[in-house]
Amino acid sequence: MSTTAPALESYVSGRWQSGTDEGTTLTDAVTGNPVARVSSTGVDTAAAVRWGREVGGPALRALPFAERAALVKAVATVLGEAREELYELSARTGATRRDSAVDIDGGIGTLAVYASKGRKELPEGDVLLDGDIEPLGRGGTFAGRHLYRSRLGVAVQINAFNFPVWGPAEKFAPALLAGVPTIIKPATPTAYLTELMVRRVIESGVLPEGALQLVCGSARQLLDELDGQDSVWFTGSADTAAALRRHPAVTERSARFNAEADSLNASVLGPDAVAGTPEFDLYVDQLVTEMTVKAGQKCTAIRRAFVPAAAADDVVEAVRSRLAEVVVGSPADERSVMGALVSHEQRDSVREAVARLAGAGGIVYGNPASIDVVGADDTTGAFLSPLLLRCDDTDRPEPHDIEAFGPVSTVLPYTGTADVVDQLARGGGSLVASVVSEDAAFQRDVVLGAGAHHGRMLLLDRHSAAENTGHGIPMPQLVHGGPGRAGGGEEEGGLRAVLHHMQRVAIQGSPALLESFAPGPRP
Ligand code: NAP
Repeated sequence: MSTTAPALESYVSGRWQSGTDEGTTLTDAVTGNPVARVSSTGVDTAAAVRWGREVGGPALRALPFAERAALVKAVATVLGEAREELYELSARTGATRRDSAVDIDGGIGTLAVYASKGRKELPEGDVLLDGDIEPLGRGGTFAGRHLYRSRLGVAVQINAFNFPVWGPAEKFAPALLAGVPTIIKPATPTAYLTELMVRRVIESGVLPEGALQLVCGSARQLLDELDGQDSVWFTGSADTAAALRRHPAVTERSARFNAEADSLNASVLGPDAVAGTPEFDLYVDQLVTEMTVKAGQKCTAIRRAFVPAAAADDVVEAVRSRLAEVVVGSPADERSVMGALVSHEQRDSVREAVARLAGAGGIVYGNPASIDVVGADDTTGAFLSPLLLRCDDTDRPEPHDIEAFGPVSTVLPYTGTADVVDQLARGGGSLVASVVSEDAAFQRDVVLGAGAHHGRMLLLDRHSAAENTGHGIPMPQLVHGGPGRAGGGEEEGGLRAVLHHMQRVAIQGSPALLESFAPGPRP
């Protein structure tokens, strides 16, 4: 193990500190060179929780919503200024500039949307009312209403490796608006990028002390101190979500727990969208994009590509010819369209998943064992070919069950609307499904038939294509999350996300008293 890599630091209780042991060495996804060492040994996470509750929380709650929104804006500005530096470091995770844009610009944009919505849509002061006053007595002297108060704990976020900037940003903005301090725990493989992001924010001095802390390293004890005023915002695999859900902080002390887990997202080609139509091209284009952006390491990437049985050959052929144009290589090489996976371990796990998927059908594009790359050495970098599979026996469980978290998708034929609605459900709950069709009746039938299984559904046709925000891009205005296998959680979705950090309180009393909680007019 090299000791030349610098140690990543955590920012806890108002000071930067590194772990007390050698820790794990994180390597560059392209060159294999060491980037940083990371350890949480000796970092006092219990003290971090107390610091957030006792220092950060009171400072944030002293501010009205408008000033909290200004803080979110200030963080977005700081990260905007650090953008190029973040891009440069992001390349070491294997990300091309296109990939980094999704993570870094996506994170900055999300903060900007929350700042704007917070400024324009939250009331004056710090009291949020919910609904009207409800009379509770015949005489009109007693009534009830609901209001929201900030919870008094910390928001602990546990992030996945694939969005080291966007992930923390989209979780942090609503917590800040709610007046709740955040402790970020980045996933270890890409923790160095989150550390840079947090470092730039902390050193800018825009946030009150304690509003934002960072714990790098494994930090397995982070939940031990949490209680009913705290919350956990987890993104990662379904297995880890299940383990954390069983933690006594959640099961016994009722810390709020939200999970965004893995997901077998889908895209459906409408029966009308035969080869030669704009929708066919949109479908193919979107599939290739979702397979290759961030080398398919996106929770929202399309894993199941549903196509009418009669169109399956055409789709496979069109996707193959598009994938053949995808140049894989170093993010530093301008020819590269797709970069590397985050690590050799990640590539091994994708290869293993592909082998199991291939048992249900076959690989129709790409070789999991080798790939020609540009600007890099394919033995040191964690490169993998885009891999398209086809499974005609749609009763096989594998394509509906196995997530290969890389540039991998499976084409699955369907026979009619009822069949595709049934197959969509077999993913067990996902973050997003697209329907690409000009047939409005088909789109509506799929949405109404399959909506309960998805957090978001994107309906794409030639008329909406120019402004389409993309299958794989969660929008801060809309729900990000999904039922069942996707974790059963909900993030974003506009200012509803702020409410997740607050307690809804029913208050009962005289109507005049209840009326007095109404905020004054906005300036
Ligand atoms: P992971 O292995 O489950 O890890 C996720 C996070 O949990 C990491 O920060 C990890 O820390 C931490 N962790 C693991 N065990 C823990 C424990 N006992 N206590 C506290 N923290 C613990 O997932 P990943 O490999 O980073 O991410 C890939 C997966 O995430 C894929 O399945 C993907 O579908 C999913 N994902 C979902 C979404 C979504 O929004 N639904 C978004 C992105 C990714 P260490 O890294 O230090 O082990």
